[in-house]
Amino acid sequence: MGILEVKNVGKRFGGLQALGDVNLSVQENTCHAIIGPNGAGKSTLLNCLIGKLIPDTGSVMFDGNSVLGRKPHEINQMGISRVFQTPEIFGDLTVFENVMIPCFAKRDGSFRMHAYESSDSEHDIIAQAEAMLDEVNMLDKRDVVASSLSRGDKRRLEMAMCLSQKPKLLLLDEPTAGMARADTNNTIELLKTIKAKGDITMCIIEHDMHVVFSLADKITVLAQGTPLVEDVPENIKGHPKVREAYLGE
Ligand code: ADP
Ligand code: MG
Repeated sequence: MGILEVKNVGKRFGGLQALGDVNLSVQENTCHAIIGPNGAGKSTLLNCLIGKLIPDTGSVMFDGNSVLGRKPHEINQMGISRVFQTPEIFGDLTVFENVMIPCFAKRDGSFRMHAYESSDSEHDIIAQAEAMLDEVNMLDKRDVVASSLSRGDKRRLEMAMCLSQKPKLLLLDEPTAGMARADTNNTIELLKTIKAKGDITMCIIEHDMHVVFSLADKITVLAQGTPLVEDVPENIKGHPKVREAYLGE
């Protein structure tokens, strides 16, 4: 049994069958990549896992509990965090304030401004937020207003916000999309560090094969809403079905 078990999930948008019959089992504390051509249904699948979309058929079990019928914030509280394709950060707040929000939310179940009152537990949270910024190498940008960050730094900030929630499962939808090579390499290193701690499961959608092969323990290839192949990276590289899906060979 994996920490995430997707069984026979289907999703239709009007006349379009975006997901056919998806089965996926993600093992705890591994990195599972989902790859596939544009329009394959990867983001749709992720949206079904976090409650943004409700599948028409099938089941999604996380850590032994069904996520179906739960709201996104409830699923988040179950331990699933997601890094979005477009970073979702608070542009008007500083980097530090952005990370404080999920730290408080994790503690209190919601963010309340009076939580800024000084007390020992507030100091703990400040320390936690600083440690998190240090982990993503952004401590020097602590007081920078988030909207002025580079694209790569916005992603790192969003990653820090997700990690502050201490998720069991981190979902990443194209975390390096639109990044320059140097930022991509930094992201790979960051994700490797997170993975090396061994206490988090990652499910990553990614186009950049260098990123996928640097991180994934297992790869599922999705094409036209259906998993084509699932295997270890070594066996995916030259797989004829994968070449067919990508290259039309
Ligand atoms: P991927 O992330 O693999 O590129 P998506 O999951 O975004 O693919 O999309 C799969 C298919 O579903 C595409 O054909 C896309 O146009 C369609 N689609 C995605 N979301 C919606 C939506 N909300 N309404 C209608 N069609 C959608
Ligand atoms: Mg997508």
